Amino acid sequence: MKMLTRQKVHSFDAQLISFRRLSISTGHFTVSVPQEFVFYAGQFVSFIIKKEDGTSLRRPYSIASAPPANGQIDLCIKKVEGGIGTTMLFALQEGESMPALGPMGAFGVQEAHKVGDLCFISTGAGIAPFKSIIPDLLKNGFSKSVFLFSGFKNEQEILYQEEFSALAEQYSNFHYFHAVDSPIDKNYIPKGRVQDLVKKYLPPGFSGHFYLCGLWAMIEDVGKLLAAKGVTSQRIHFERYD
Ligand SMILES: Cc1cc2nc3c(=O)[nH]c(=O)nc-3n(C[C@H](O)[C@H](O)[C@H](O)COP(=O)(O)OP(=O)(O)OC[C@H]3O[C@@H](n4cnc5c(N)ncnc54)[C@H](O)[C@@H]3O)c2cc1C
Repeated sequence: MKMLTRQKVHSFDAQLISFRRLSISTGHFTVSVPQEFVFYAGQFVSFIIKKEDGTSLRRPYSIASAPPANGQIDLCIKKVEGGIGTTMLFALQEGESMPALGPMGAFGVQEAHKVGDLCFISTGAGIAPFKSIIPDLLKNGFSKSVFLFSGFKNEQEILYQEEFSALAEQYSNFHYFHAVDSPIDKNYIPKGRVQDLVKKYLPPGFSGHFYLCGLWAMIEDVGKLLAAKGVTSQRIHFERYD
């Protein structure tokens, strides 16, 4: 994307300002960024994870708040069992820091795609970039239809339901749907996979672009579903987490 070419990537110490548990496995982290940090909705930052043997790893996380940053951003991070990076991130105490790089990535909605309706599809923490992109679009007057289909494992893993429901109340062009595929309470509704939501609620003849985010298995499955509906690959954009 042309707009990203001259963007400054900062190397900084991200200080944990606050942490809120969103679900059994996932947390909402607010971290500091430099005052001059400028990002586009859909980008990510990478934490530098220093290992005991002196080597280091990078772990990227989508920014889950709308620009501008004004010195802080939100992140939505799922703790992966035995995961090197997330174990260290979930052990961070407020006031402690972790080295980071950013902003990076080009998953934002391309200007050329904003002429039509948009559809966002996520599973689990893959909802993170949409927590930045969707409020950013709506607050900036995007008037075409915006669909968000988000899938979760069970009702204890649902992320940002209140926030997206409130946006749907506020903006009549925003349509928010979620479902869980393995509910703990067998009577829980809506039950199903994110693919079921797409089949049920995507309007026939939808001609806009699709942005998908989550693990590869979902991206592949939804990609096949969209292809079967006649959607060309040029209209499908994705960020994979694994
Ligand atoms: C561009 C980009 C943006 C990302 N943004 C986010 C984000 O906003 N929130 C977030 O929680 N994660 C995000 N991820 C994934 C994240 O970078 C790490 O891969 C993840 O947190 C696991 O890191 P770890 O060091 O704890 O696990 P590792 O020690 O690297 O082990 C990962 C292992 O767990 C498996 N695994 C299970 N669940 C996941 C999962 N959800 N993500 C990745 N691997 C998984 C992998 O297949 C792999 O085998 C993003 C990845 C990319 C590439």
